Amino acid sequence: MTARVVIIGNGMAGARLAGELHAREGDRKVTVLGAEPHRAYNRIMLSTLLAGRVDEPDVELTEAAGHGIDLRTGVTVTALDRSAREVRTADGERIAYDHLVLATGARAVVPPLPGLDPADLPERVVPFRTLDDCRRILAAADGARSALVLGGGLLGLEAARGLANRGLTTTVVHPRGHLMERQLDPAAGAVLAGTLAGLGVTSQLAVPAIGVATDATGVRLDLADGQTLHADLLVLSCGVRPDTALARAAGLDVGRGVLVDDRLRTSDRSISAIGDCAEHDGVLTGLVAPAWAQARVLADVLTGTDPLARYRPRPVVTRLKAAGIDLASMGDPVGGGPGEELTFTDPSRGTYARLRIRDERLVGAILLGDNPAVGTVIQLFDRGHPVPTDRRALLLGRALGTAAAAPASSPALMPDGVTVCQCNSVSKGALVRSWRSGARTVDAVVAATRAGTGCGGCRDAVGGIVDWLSQAESVEVTR
Ligand SMILES: Cc1cc2nc3c(=O)[nH]c(=O)nc-3n(C[C@H](O)[C@H](O)[C@H](O)COP(=O)(O)OP(=O)(O)OC[C@H]3O[C@@H](n4cnc5c(N)ncnc54)[C@H](O)[C@@H]3O)c2cc1C
Repeated sequence: MTARVVIIGNGMAGARLAGELHAREGDRKVTVLGAEPHRAYNRIMLSTLLAGRVDEPDVELTEAAGHGIDLRTGVTVTALDRSAREVRTADGERIAYDHLVLATGARAVVPPLPGLDPADLPERVVPFRTLDDCRRILAAADGARSALVLGGGLLGLEAARGLANRGLTTTVVHPRGHLMERQLDPAAGAVLAGTLAGLGVTSQLAVPAIGVATDATGVRLDLADGQTLHADLLVLSCGVRPDTALARAAGLDVGRGVLVDDRLRTSDRSISAIGDCAEHDGVLTGLVAPAWAQARVLADVLTGTDPLARYRPRPVVTRLKAAGIDLASMGDPVGGGPGEELTFTDPSRGTYARLRIRDERLVGAILLGDNPAVGTVIQLFDRGHPVPTDRRALLLGRALGTAAAAPASSPALMPDGVTVCQCNSVSKGALVRSWRSGARTVDAVVAATRAGTGCGGCRDAVGGIVDWLSQAESVEVTR
């Protein structure tokens, strides 16, 4: 059994791993070294914090606090000494390990534009990755009237919606022809741009930025088509880059991320990597569900709880966390190839749906706008179940009459295996079991299962299941 585990990074993966290790029996010393000065927080809730829908205390993660874990915040690791099995910190300390875990996450990309020095960004130009970034954006937005967001991907749009929610006239500048091109096709991008416009966010598409200038009065963004945009602040949302510097300098195998196998081992068996810094089977995940799944597997392997545990990627569902916009994209919704292709567009109502079906299974889907079938579509995709013969019900979100449609509409009929919380992989069965074990409120069920502690998108569903269990207390619930 591992005696001294050192985790570098107190972000969502590192903090979760510390919690998972603590939850397993055994005699080991766990040290977490985090460069950020804060206790661990829920990074994915920063968009919601920016939008003013939660406060700072609401985004704190509690799992690694206390619990006998040696948590050191504000400590940056500067080097790994693999032969001595030590890490070195910025203030010269050496900390020995038996097993080292890299959970260093990713950094926001600052685009190479004239006027932008990544090491010395002007006050009015802020990337969007950390709690400190979020505080700086909020400080700059205070009293501001307009904002520019560079980058029309998921995070850029969440930031833009949040700023518009605070009353700022907001423009998204995106070099591609449509928004969120990694998750959406052009038609969905166009409907989304229309919905955003109605919420106070305009889009400048297919035009790269070529320069930035700031002065005491604001920010100027020069575009390749000759336009010049002015605003009080500029948020940079131009993607992230895995933080691999330590691993690279120590001679570990690094591709785009730190290369890991199914056990999350790097090319050095005493060092693992999880979360945004890790590259597994050619894939950088950049999402919390896989980071938390990796933390679970690694804790099982390191503690010997399940030495055969292996990380198996699950299909990815992406949802936009922006008030007034319902958007889910999953699998490969835009690629061509054999199979059925079903689409429905109603731009006037901000509705778009696309389903890609092969061998009676969903291989990709986009659902934009109010579509009551969204829960069902996610479940069918997640579980790889056959789609109902009435495809229109899924596409249009009409009342659904098939057994496959039942999961979204009634907890009673929902199979136990249905994943309710995607971030934490919590099934309906796990929620029912926690209820049976004595958790009698939503908070208690959440505390017992962690459902709803990621993006929070399943909180209503968890509440619905708890309501149903309360009402059905005297009734036998499905096993
Ligand atoms: C605004 C926003 C919204 C998001 N929304 C979603 C969403 O809805 N759904 C989703 O799945 N994902 C979302 N994500 C992505 C998600 O937050 C990341 O996938 C997740 O945080 C990855 O966790 P991590 O621990 O690998 O990296 P991080 O959370 O970035 O943590 C890495 C930590 O390591 C520290 N570190 C780095 N180097 C060192 C060093 N040398 N010494 C000490 N410490 C170090 C860093 O300071 C950082 O605190 C969002 C991200 C952002 C920024």
